[in-house]
Amino acid sequence: MLANSIPEAEENLKLLIEISKKFGLEINKEKSNVLIFNDKEKTQEICGIKVTDNIKYLGITIINKKDLFKKQKENMIEKAQKLANMTFNIIEKCCNKVLIGKTYWKSLVLPSVLYGAGVINFTNAEIQKLQIIENSVYRKILGGRKDTPVSAMRSEIGASLMKTRIIESKINLSKNISTGKNKLLKDILRKTKADKKNRWTITLDKYLEEINITSIETEKLNKKEIKDRLRRWDSENWRKEIESKSSLNIYRYWKKEIKEETFYDNRWSSKLLFLARTNSLPLNIRNRHTNGKVHCNICDMNVNEDLEHFLIDCPKLENERCQKYIEEKDVKDDAIGKFLFEVSNIEEKKEMIQKMWKKRKSLIQEMDDL
Ligand SMILES: [Zn+2]
Repeated sequence: MLANSIPEAEENLKLLIEISKKFGLEINKEKSNVLIFNDKEKTQEICGIKVTDNIKYLGITIINKKDLFKKQKENMIEKAQKLANMTFNIIEKCCNKVLIGKTYWKSLVLPSVLYGAGVINFTNAEIQKLQIIENSVYRKILGGRKDTPVSAMRSEIGASLMKTRIIESKINLSKNISTGKNKLLKDILRKTKADKKNRWTITLDKYLEEINITSIETEKLNKKEIKDRLRRWDSENWRKEIESKSSLNIYRYWKKEIKEETFYDNRWSSKLLFLARTNSLPLNIRNRHTNGKVHCNICDMNVNEDLEHFLIDCPKLENERCQKYIEEKDVKDDAIGKFLFEVSNIEEKKEMIQKMWKKRKSLIQEMDDL
């Protein structure tokens, strides 16, 4: 029941109690609660029903503050973190970590965490918190390192942004109400949308502007078409991101879209291939911001140990390197790209990287022993 004032609430409650009685029904006051917004008198109860500072309605916690979903959003973030921490237990013993991990996160965790996201207004900082949790899950299931770019993990796994999902649920909520049969809800939606000071409306309008879609279009387009528009916006974001990362210069040339790769499995060789593709193999070039020891330790060439040196040039890995897969090219980036991104012989290529990595490791070990 909603009311604009305490006297109005009392009036309504009295009526409800009275009328219910005629039908032999009774209000369970122990199980009922009152929430008062902007209460300066610190009211304790109304008609014997206790006043609290939060209630749970249809699974969503509402508090008596200006941001009435604040607690709910904190709960959502907490839940996402808890379920993200469980990812390792879920994927540990399964046959394909990437497949199961992705299914766990997208089909089980997200629907539960984002339940009700359409009605709630998130700040960018709150969305970012959820995004960071999600990134940690992708890092876990792909075997990414701290410096593996998020944008590359996202496109290897085929995932959209948290923000895209939140925008989609907001648009869909509005669509479901306006095409549905509930007249009261339609009325509320119409009034809410007309009120340009309403936070829900402000947020929705901002999102529509951001993805460059008009309010009229959201009504005309079907859900699939809206999804496509959102995907396009999401991909543009992704493209900007990978273009800003110099370490992904080969990646962005070969990987043109966000698309799940199906060749990943639980083997070490698979993780190495992933790290090589995303240019985050722990080669010495990665030390450039820390101790500065960037030269290759295993050969005497006195050059930086980067992906090119490891895959193509290092003479100490000659026997493990299979020339059949690493072709001679004028531009070495082309040879690397062809090797890492063309899926033909992908299993042999995984094997080859693993052999090379093993050799590198044992040569470093030998040198340490000396
Ligand atoms: Zn070398």
